[in-house]
Amino acid sequence: MTQIKSEPNLISVTTLLDAEPIADVCFADFGLSEDILRALGDQGYVHPTPIQAAAIPMVLKGRDVMGAAQTGTGKTAGFSLPMIQLLLAHASTSASPARHPVRALILTPTRELADQVAENIKAYSKYTALRSVVVFGGVDIAPQIGALRTGVEIVIATPGRLLDHVQQKSVNLSQVQMLVMDEADRMLDMGFLPDLQRIINLLPKSRQSLMFSATFSHEIKKLAATFLRNPLTIEVARSNATADNVTQVLYQIAEEDKREAVSFIIRERNLKQVIVFSNTKIGASRLAVHLVKTGVKASAIHGDKSQAERMAALEAFKHGEIEVLVATDVAARGLDIAELPCVINIDLPYNAEDYVHRIGRTGRAGAKGDAISLFSEKDERLLNDIEKLIGGGSAGKEGGQKQPKIVRLHLAGFVAQKLVEPQRARSSEGRNLSSGDVRNNRRAAFRSDPSPSRIDPWFLQPYQPAQSTLPPDEKSSANSSKASQKPVRRAALLGGHIKS
Ligand code: AMP
Repeated sequence: MTQIKSEPNLISVTTLLDAEPIADVCFADFGLSEDILRALGDQGYVHPTPIQAAAIPMVLKGRDVMGAAQTGTGKTAGFSLPMIQLLLAHASTSASPARHPVRALILTPTRELADQVAENIKAYSKYTALRSVVVFGGVDIAPQIGALRTGVEIVIATPGRLLDHVQQKSVNLSQVQMLVMDEADRMLDMGFLPDLQRIINLLPKSRQSLMFSATFSHEIKKLAATFLRNPLTIEVARSNATADNVTQVLYQIAEEDKREAVSFIIRERNLKQVIVFSNTKIGASRLAVHLVKTGVKASAIHGDKSQAERMAALEAFKHGEIEVLVATDVAARGLDIAELPCVINIDLPYNAEDYVHRIGRTGRAGAKGDAISLFSEKDERLLNDIEKLIGGGSAGKEGGQKQPKIVRLHLAGFVAQKLVEPQRARSSEGRNLSSGDVRNNRRAAFRSDPSPSRIDPWFLQPYQPAQSTLPPDEKSSANSSKASQKPVRRAALLGGHIKS
């Protein structure tokens, strides 16, 4: 089942379960210190995942490593554990800052990922005298300066804020002996290359460097060739492979019905912990508002939210106070949520690789997961790109011998409710419906009668707003059913395309 190809500069592990700990290998086999093993025991970790099993011994040997592994495969411990082990030789209980120079630097693209890596490192090093600190932008710099000045061996940072500290002389990188670039592909996507170059110029030439990336593009290989010294490439699973333990389904839903479809799916599946991905900040906010209106505990996280708001939403989600987190790709990157059972894409991502990252949020550590995507006609090209990237055909395609990775299904029982606006809803007998009647109608449509043909045809007619409610410039287009269905969306379109 698991195939390992080993060459002087390549370890390639092809495995079905890339996040599943390997039962016949133990962390104790790597010669890690008792203090680290005890901390791992506290986490309940005994056996390493494939990336950990491949990376830990090589990093301990001092090799530079280029790790290509999916999110959720345990790569953080794959670099953190040997890093802590190697730094233990320098651990000091002295209070003097001079005895705690920065010896390891971990760069991450986002604040959330920096925070999560820092949490992991704190947990793994808690029985050692090593100190670590996380620095990222969007929050007050003063406490970070204070922490850096007391002396820390491990700094976890986003590139921009680290350069702020360099400028303020609150950090000295001249003794860094280990550098980790985590989610390097995302750092390139986010335009951090110049910042990375500036930071690397501040580091000693003689150092160990590790680079991790979920995808393994030409640019990433070029970056690796520039910054790594005779690197060992460790590949776990196929680059851009989606985990086989994640069931991927696709529902074709008209663009204007997608919000309702999401709330339908959440209700029908009784989902209590789900991330919904939106391509835009405005889309994320609108969906969260819609879900809250329908009684779902939802919150949106995106680039317009403050760091404190994003962290609060994430914490509430982890504790179950929020059931649905609606996120843009940037905001969701690196979120560490164990055993998320389901992710939903209300939009297919513009960048096919983001699809892999999104669905990597579920099915972590070998657990089963569901990835549900909504798709409208205009998304055909995006879907093609995704299918090309992840391999496998899609159901219904001619000549497709391959097992489809993304299965196209009909969303049984879903009937869009845009036609049943409370103020206009009338039964076929002309009786005014109360909002309670409307709700009951909706329930009936959702639950008891999955066949649209048994629904009063009135409900299947396009919504026709009253002429008097239209602004003058819209009256002329009132005959077009498309325009008349979506008077509100015009304002959003006038705002232009919003990038998250
Ligand atoms: P990562 O890919 O580093 O974000 O890790 C994914 C998830 O797997 C995190 O929730 C880790 O805490 C968890 N994890 C990492 N290593 C192990 C392990 N050896 N055994 C079980 N769970 C692990």
